[in-house]
Parts: sequence; structure tokens; C-alpha cells
Amino acid sequence: MLRAKLVALFAEKNEDGSFRYIKSDGTPYDIYTDGLKVYTTLDRRMQQYAEWGLQEHLRNELQPDFFKDLAKKKNRPFDFRVSEEEIAGILNTAMKRSVRYKVLTGKQCGNCERPAKYIETKQHEGRKHYHCRPDLGGCDTYWPVVKESEIPGIFDTPTKMRVFTWKGERDTVMSPMDSIRYYKGFLQSGLLSMDPHTGFVKAWVGGIDFKHFQYDHVEQARRQVGSTFKPFVYATALREGMDLCREVPNQRVCFDMPPGQPDWCPENSDAVYGGMVTLEYALANSMNTVTAWLMKQYGPQAVTVLARHMGVKSPLEAVPSLCLGVADLTLMEMTGAFSSFANQGVYIEPITFTRIEDKNGNTVYDVTPTPTRRWTRSPRTRC
Ligand SMILES: [Zn+2]
Repeated sequence: MLRAKLVALFAEKNEDGSFRYIKSDGTPYDIYTDGLKVYTTLDRRMQQYAEWGLQEHLRNELQPDFFKDLAKKKNRPFDFRVSEEEIAGILNTAMKRSVRYKVLTGKQCGNCERPAKYIETKQHEGRKHYHCRPDLGGCDTYWPVVKESEIPGIFDTPTKMRVFTWKGERDTVMSPMDSIRYYKGFLQSGLLSMDPHTGFVKAWVGGIDFKHFQYDHVEQARRQVGSTFKPFVYATALREGMDLCREVPNQRVCFDMPPGQPDWCPENSDAVYGGMVTLEYALANSMNTVTAWLMKQYGPQAVTVLARHMGVKSPLEAVPSLCLGVADLTLMEMTGAFSSFANQGVYIEPITFTRIEDKNGNTVYDVTPTPTRRWTRSPRTRC
């Protein structure tokens, strides 16, 4: 992810179209060959604990339970409601995202991982090859070009490979397509820790094992956030001047929906109603009724506006059900947004690197975090 951020940074242009960061010879920086020194915000010790913590939880607790559950499923690792067609689609997408596919199609070097712009097509040993160009800083590896139509066959042919297991890598023989199916049975997770006062990311775990699963669950993957969205609704109310100790009836609240749709009246998860509760109690106990009541007072629009100011960038539909967290957001957005609660209502953009030097130690990039404006009042913190 850092590599992608650096590539994006050095692709930035000024208004006149010139590169924003250039070498003394006027050309843009190449992150692979220019010997840059990048100072990240990661804390090595915290990073190690984070990786250990996430792996222990999945290895010893969640994944064993999930495997037990999967063993009963006939269509495993897919749910019985997923059709054969959908499965074919899912597997096809996974195939196209795989490193093997990118290498076979010349989009990535299998040796040094450089992307397509380093790779040329060239006659070599009597047939067409892809070539990782040493003149651009590539590693000079050749591999044969195959026809698009041959690729499915390659993915269905059993081959020697080393696969991930929670007990360590295992050498085996299976087709790449079967390995994709095998990997779909693994639960994934992400972890992000940041200092809420500086925005410095201290630990970033994008998945369970980087070698075998490179999809990032911090900034790329979006998940339905559910009840973790509720604090945005309560923060909207507090910002509008409502008191944390205000008592609200614990009763079903209904929203009128567009013509043809039934009214929407969210239930409490414990199905217990009646009496009055403070906002503090309702938030602490994740009560759907009170959250919906607040949503009705202030409207979805106000909640989306606050969420935006708190760093949520993914699409947010201004609909009543937003209050219970139907939006798909990234862990990065949620961590950044929640950090503003821990930082007196000031949102700070999470950052992963602070400084870049060239090979001679000259500063190429240097940043000090700038807090943005305060968005919440300083309400009472306890009743
Ligand atoms: Zn290469």
C-alpha cells in the first residue's frame, strides 16, 4: 500500500502539467531505482504485536470454527444460496486478480513484481516473450507470451505449488483454480492503529498473510459497518445541541418510505421496549430505537455531512437505514473518523509516511500533520 501511495505521490502534477516532485535532471522519481529513503510512521514493535494479535485470533479461534461450519456445506466454501453461475463469476474475478494471471498477461513481472510499464514484448529464443526491461530498472527476466485463450487451461492444470495454511506453508499439487477455491475458505481481517493526535499510523495489517493474500483490508476492502456507525448519529445530535443526558422513549420509530415500500421501523436486537433512557445509555447499549429516533430528529442528510467532515469518503446514501450502518466503508475511514472522538472533535487525516529523502539525503518530501477545524462541541462526557 505504501508503494502505491508513493507512486501516486510522484505522479502528482502542478497546474501547468509538470511533475510536482522532480529530480535535478527534471525527470520524475522512480520509487524502484532512485534509492529514495522513506520514513514511515509505523512503530515496529506495535506492528509486530498487531500482526501477532490478528493472526492468533484467526488461527486459533475464528478460522477453526469457520472450517467446522464449512465442512457441513455441500457447496463449500460458498453458501448454498450462491448459484453455480455466481460462483463461476466469483472464481473468474479472483483468477483475474491473481498474481499468476497478471504475470501470464504481462501486467506484472513474476520475479521483481514491477508493473506493466516495465514490461515489453520481445522475440527471445525463437518465440515471443515478455521481458522485464533492465533499461528502465527492471530485472531482465524473460517469460513466454501465451494466448488469452490458453489461460483458462493453465488455471485448470494441476501444478506444484506452495499454499498457505495456518500451520505454515505446505507443498502440494493442485490446479491454480482449485487453489483459488481453497483460499476462498479463509477468513480475512484487517487491523489499523493510529495516534489520534497526529494521524500517524502506528500499525497496519492488511490481511492474514501478505505472501498469499495481497488484497488490503485496511484501505481497499469495504465492509458494512453496522452499529459502529451509530456514534455518527449521536455526534450529530450533540453537535446540534442535544444533551447527552436527555431522556428519550425506548419505542419503535417508523420512517415513511417511497410509494410501494412498507414503512421502516427498526427493532431492538433484544426486542425489549418501553421506558425512557438517556442518550448515553442508548449509545452504550447500541439501541436501535433511540438511534432511529435521533435519525428522525436530524435527518440522514445531517448525519452524512458530519460523517464526511470526519473523513468518510466512500459513497453514503442519505437514507434512514444509514443510522444502523448500512454503508460499506473502509477500516481506514472508520479509524480516522473515530480518532476525531479521541482528539476533542478534531479530524486528522491518517498518514503513513512523513518524509522522503533522495539518495544523497536531500529532502524530497516532508509533511507535518495539520489538524482541521473542530466539528463537535465539547459536550458533557458522562451523565
Ligand atoms: Zn522484473
